[in-house]
Amino acid sequence: MGLLRADEVAHSIFDVDYPRLWASGKRAVIFDLDNTLGERRASKLNPEVRRLLDDLRSRGFRVGVLTNRRWRSVESLVSELGPEFPLVRMAHKPSRRGYATLLGRLEVSAVEAVMIGDRTLTDVFGANRCGIHSIRVSGFSA
Ligand SMILES: [Mg+2]
Repeated sequence: MGLLRADEVAHSIFDVDYPRLWASGKRAVIFDLDNTLGERRASKLNPEVRRLLDDLRSRGFRVGVLTNRRWRSVESLVSELGPEFPLVRMAHKPSRRGYATLLGRLEVSAVEAVMIGDRTLTDVFGANRCGIHSIRVSGFSA
């Protein structure tokens, strides 16, 4: 049961206390895509989201995206994000594999990372079983 419980909850990605996470030793933020970084099936980032991602980078965080979406539907987002924001698609969350791949690309260990997503059975469960601090958001709101 503990594996289905998020370590913390927040209304949206804009309500997470990132400075506190940094102070507690977290160095990477992994975002789910649909209903977390944007609307479901969004193919572009909202400008406020882009600003948040850039702000996190300037604070020193490594930032990545972990999505169960397939290649085609995320192609434009991959080029929009650029190589500094690695995106792993078809992650098959809650499988551990996608998390491991992304942690490797971000060059951090599981205990240094947080996962932010809207779904308990994929984002939260997957993060918890990898030992990644899990934060469940209610959904996307700009
Ligand atoms: Mg989602």
